[in-house]
Amino acid sequence: MKVLKFGGTSVGTPESLRNVKRIVEGIDSQTVVVVSALGGITDRLIATARLAAADNPAFREEMEGIAARHFNVIEQVVDEGAKGQTRSEVARLLENLRRIFEGISLIRHLPTQTLDLVVSFGERMSSVIVTSMIKGAKRFDSLSFIKTEEWFGKNVADQKLTTALIKDTFNVSFDKAIVPGFISTDRDSGIITNLGRGGSDFTAALVAAALDASVLEIWTDVDGFMTADPRLIPNARVVDRMSFVESMELCTYGAKVIYPPTIYPVFHKNIPIRILNTFKPEAPGTFISDSERNEGFSIKGVSVLRGTSLFSLASEMASDLTDVETRTFNALARQGIRLYPVSSPGNRGVNFAVSSEDEAKTRSVIVSEFAPDIPDRPLLNPVVTDKLSTLAVVGDNLKDQPRLGARIRNSLERAGLKVCAFSDGMSDSTLTFMLPREEADDALRIVHALVAE
Ligand code: ADP
Ligand code: ASP
Ligand code: MG
Repeated sequence: MKVLKFGGTSVGTPESLRNVKRIVEGIDSQTVVVVSALGGITDRLIATARLAAADNPAFREEMEGIAARHFNVIEQVVDEGAKGQTRSEVARLLENLRRIFEGISLIRHLPTQTLDLVVSFGERMSSVIVTSMIKGAKRFDSLSFIKTEEWFGKNVADQKLTTALIKDTFNVSFDKAIVPGFISTDRDSGIITNLGRGGSDFTAALVAAALDASVLEIWTDVDGFMTADPRLIPNARVVDRMSFVESMELCTYGAKVIYPPTIYPVFHKNIPIRILNTFKPEAPGTFISDSERNEGFSIKGVSVLRGTSLFSLASEMASDLTDVETRTFNALARQGIRLYPVSSPGNRGVNFAVSSEDEAKTRSVIVSEFAPDIPDRPLLNPVVTDKLSTLAVVGDNLKDQPRLGARIRNSLERAGLKVCAFSDGMSDSTLTFMLPREEADDALRIVHALVAE
């Protein structure tokens, strides 16, 4: 069995939907097809909900624009015989959505739960349309089998429960199963949640892992995983093959091709991932698997994670630093904050990076951890450098290139860019460099030219 996932641009227009139909109908084995909302619809649903919450009457026009977009697609891609039924299913969802927007405008309030409900309509509608378009397709509702739980104020997948529910749900006969991506429900309350922006990839991976698929195919709008974001580096090359770890590192550090949590479940089951182009199905794409792991060193890509903050804590005594580090890392882990240890030439002591979103919380966790010590050891007051971006250079077996990190730092510095911190020697697949955010694009160009062209 194969699992295919089509992203927003792939299901964005009648032309792209015809490609999807051709690709799926051309497969002669059992297939699960996970679909995103029509391209741009998730953003539009969020913007419309915000207009409604501000009681701006323009939300009604936006709502009708969303409706027209879906009806237009149905008109153009669904066979005559199935049109009436599809139109009425989508109309029912749209009527529901319309009432929710009216409700939001009445109470002028948009809690996360309501926004999650609003965005769920994107995938609910697109999956109805794709199901009616593909011969032999049957829709399976992910609201009933993708389950989340709350973790430090965020909804995260409950993978154990989800896996059991997927096995149960798909234990029926089907040829082509269509599944809305991204959306889920809370395992306790049943309230609609989602897996985070870009989360359809993750839905597909959870299904692929639970059903022991032979491959997970991510169909998107580029020819494969490239050595850098082609929107920023026009001469980026497609990478034919890479390891799970390499893809995971690149995506964690900002490559948008795959939503980062996606890779774990399939990696764990050793199910390969292919990245393919819906607009050029014959292109070979990128093959991600474990067999690439020990095959020597080559750079697979350079990416940029925007919005990182650098924390530095020092102590007069070197003998103190392991204690400072252990307490800091433990305290942050207990609050669910992810950090990346780095070295910072300008700051001795313990240095690490966090996402800027976590900056305020990180600062308060550290201050409360060390509050009793600070009067005697003022250096434990964290120094924070914000508005940074992290550039990552990825390729397995970095140990074979001991001088690469220094070479990259030299090139960046020679170009007048400021490397505030870096990690070198901490991982065998990734080097990172933190720079002021306005220097990130220049750094990407310089480093890509140096190592990937
Ligand atoms: P989808 O809607 O199909 O999920 P996304 O927009 O989430 O598509 O991801 C595909 C986009 O990721 C591409 O259009 C490309 O601009 C961007 N991207 C960023 N980094 C890379 C990279 N290293 N290789 C390929 N694409 C990349
Ligand atoms: N439609 C959702 C988003 O735009 C999920 C996805 O496309 O993967 O984020
Ligand atoms: Mg995506």
